[in-house]
Amino acid sequence: MRPIDADELVKLLYKNIEIFEPLSVIDKDVQNAIARIKCDIEIVESMPTVEQTTTSFVHGHWIKLDEDGYDATYKCSHCNTCFYGVVDPCNDLCNFCLACGAKMDESEVEE
Ligand SMILES: [Zn+2]
Repeated sequence: MRPIDADELVKLLYKNIEIFEPLSVIDKDVQNAIARIKCDIEIVESMPTVEQTTTSFVHGHWIKLDEDGYDATYKCSHCNTCFYGVVDPCNDLCNFCLACGAKMDESEVEE
């Protein structure tokens, strides 16, 4: 699951309707496209809202397990998934876990 800001998406879809609406007077295809966008808005609005206890609000920190010269192995404190080389908490490349989505804003603790 990838939580998104549905309100922002709906705003963007309405903006697209505004942009294309002047053309809909003369173009049937544009009218159909606007009708499809309105259906998309209804679909987005009908989606359930995620509870705040799901992964989007889970917090964790990187645990440095091993260092091999340039690269290191880090483990997510929340789901224990290990990453080698691709995650470098020092340069802010990954402020969330690629496996569980935990936000890595807890203070780092080395094991
Ligand atoms: Zn994780």
